Amino acid sequence: MTDYYEVLGVSRDASADEIKRAYRKLARELHPDVADGPDAAERFKDVSRAYEVLSNAEKRQQYDMGVDPSAPGGGQGGGAGFGFEDIFETFFGGAAGGQQGPIPRRRRGQDALLRLDIELSDAVFGTEEEVTVDTAVVCSVCDGSCCAPGTEPRTCEVCGGRGTVQRVARSFLGQVMTTAQCSACHGFGTVIPEPCTECSGEGRVRSRRNLKINVPAGVATGTRIRMPEQGEVGPGGGPAGDLYVEIYERPHNIFTRQGDDLHCTITIPMTAAALGTVLEIETLDGKQELDIAPGTQPGDDIKLTNLGVGRLQRPGRGDLHAHIEVEVPRNLTDDQSELLRNLAEKRDETRPDARIAPVNNGVFSRLKEKFAGR
Ligand SMILES: [Zn+2]
Ligand SMILES: [Zn+2]
Repeated sequence: MTDYYEVLGVSRDASADEIKRAYRKLARELHPDVADGPDAAERFKDVSRAYEVLSNAEKRQQYDMGVDPSAPGGGQGGGAGFGFEDIFETFFGGAAGGQQGPIPRRRRGQDALLRLDIELSDAVFGTEEEVTVDTAVVCSVCDGSCCAPGTEPRTCEVCGGRGTVQRVARSFLGQVMTTAQCSACHGFGTVIPEPCTECSGEGRVRSRRNLKINVPAGVATGTRIRMPEQGEVGPGGGPAGDLYVEIYERPHNIFTRQGDDLHCTITIPMTAAALGTVLEIETLDGKQELDIAPGTQPGDDIKLTNLGVGRLQRPGRGDLHAHIEVEVPRNLTDDQSELLRNLAEKRDETRPDARIAPVNNGVFSRLKEKFAGR
């Protein structure tokens, strides 16, 4: 069987418009009046035959089901009588440029949207999730043909397969011809004498299925992952729309995220801040050492590079920022008070001056700057 899609250079789910455009372009190149290559005439015939089949919804459906309606003896019934005149009409512009001919029964399905809740660690490292999708799929009983097994669509007798009827209306200007959708076939050009009972003649049924979603590192709330052709199958078993999976990242109780960076707050005792130490903290990458330098101040930000969120579709990761809080001891014992009083005397801090910080240098403004990303 000739691959008509290949002849026209279109994909199997090409729309009627795409098929028409591809045909017009090829016909312009290969038309016997302009082309003089040795096989141009032969190719023009092939292209025209492909278009004759694919431009007709009914013939296209037969073809998609494995029957070549233009082959000798194939495609019983002759369909809607879309012949060479129609092709030339299309080629030479046709009338009014509008939608000519019947509405295809087989149409593209709608896109679907699904929300996926993930944990922060999934956004940091990426993950694979399984989701349940509830959409229309091709009816397995009629394979999208909408007809009960063993039956097939019949050309509409009212409109002769055109999907439209011409009416003569009288007006005060005289007789006017109008074109209206055929009400017997609802514009399809064919009627289905015995609709498939499984899908009620829709060509598709609702079904639940599980899908694996590859969630890349770096996604964030609002990111949409596109799964081509995993949406809803169209009427008449038409090509499926796309599925979009929208990410929602659950808040984490320790780490907050800003772009690709993570932030957390670490509280250390006053003595550790003054003397310096090495702490062990639990990160999303497991235990990590955190170096506290002697003289660390409240509000200091210690950066752990490369422990942030993986960058979306780029190599590398953001950083983890540990913001330091210093805890001043309460409820000192007498001994401890004594020690601290001695220290204050040694540092000449028993009656310190109150130093008021300038606007741009307090802990408060430093914190604000950090979160503003300066
Ligand atoms: Zn069915
Ligand atoms: Zn009709």
